Amino acid sequence: MTSRTGYVWDALYGWADTGTGGLAPSSVADRLQPVAAHVAHPDTKRRLHELIATSGLLKRLTPIEAQLAQEEDILRVHDRAHYERILKESAWPKGGDAGDGGSPFGQGGHEIALLAAGGAIAATRAVVAGEVRNAYALVNPPGHHAERANGKGFCIFNNVAVAASYAREVLGVGRVAIVDWDVHHGNGAQDIFWSRSDVLNVSVHQDNCFPPASGPVDARGEGDGFGYTLNVPLPPGGGNAVYDYAFGEVVVPALRAFNPDLILIASGFDASIMDPLARMMVRSDGYERIAQHVLDAADELCDGRVVVVQEGGYSPYYVPFCGLKVLELMSGERTGIEDAYMPIVGGMGGDVLRDHEREAVDVAAALVADIS
Ligand code: ZN
Repeated sequence: MTSRTGYVWDALYGWADTGTGGLAPSSVADRLQPVAAHVAHPDTKRRLHELIATSGLLKRLTPIEAQLAQEEDILRVHDRAHYERILKESAWPKGGDAGDGGSPFGQGGHEIALLAAGGAIAATRAVVAGEVRNAYALVNPPGHHAERANGKGFCIFNNVAVAASYAREVLGVGRVAIVDWDVHHGNGAQDIFWSRSDVLNVSVHQDNCFPPASGPVDARGEGDGFGYTLNVPLPPGGGNAVYDYAFGEVVVPALRAFNPDLILIASGFDASIMDPLARMMVRSDGYERIAQHVLDAADELCDGRVVVVQEGGYSPYYVPFCGLKVLELMSGERTGIEDAYMPIVGGMGGDVLRDHEREAVDVAAALVADIS
């Protein structure tokens, strides 16, 4: 019997070479030391895959094979110049950079990036075809910072935007909603779909985290797209409570107003309480809660059609437990494995909604009225 949940992983995702820098390449001149494991080292994603495998959950999911995204798939959302520069630099002996100088990839890295975009496409195709009810594409490198003309923030091609455009233009899906719960702003989809009303882009992120100054609540799209970019910037320090409130008060009402035929989730686990690249406090049960919000909305609005595409998440310790909880929820299959860090992180806070968090969410909630 096939599971209701499809799953994409490819061993090459674990080979993405992010070099020996941290947020920037090492530099003797700047006295920026090389480090054994880059903050976006692919082992974090591989560890999530291996927890899924060793937990027994993998056998209860429907495997979906990633294929290389084709040139036309990339060019639906990226400039040709960006695409060709990645291919050119990928042939260099030590590889190249996605576009911002802090997103290195190794020789041949274009192939892994195309396989990540292709993994998002394969998961989308399977869900739209009804082969599975929902799917998790555990792809790497991530994509949500990649804009039309350049890569950024460890992202080469915008996997979730590639999947959204594939759904619209190849599969004939009417309306696609992107829900981005990565802790950093979903600037790539914002850039790509800024003037469009057929793709709703909701990003819930730490206010002014990355990219710098990106994703304020008053960045809302323009022309036909006005209102269909919805940013929900949250004050630093928030945890399960503010995320639950934001999804209940903004994300779900926005999805209801938009009434999508397909929901794509840009899933970063870097809002976690153990993440080094942001200052939020979400635990694995918080991720489970916000996933429940979206899955319930999908059941109500689009026959449960949800494709989750992996984005960031930089705690090699904690990302696996967050991901396992989301996949258990999607599949309805419980492994019995508990979050091993809960005895430590469970009492650290984030469970009570504070006034300034409520106020930030309420500002965004008022903008849902412009979606139809
Ligand atoms: Zn992120």
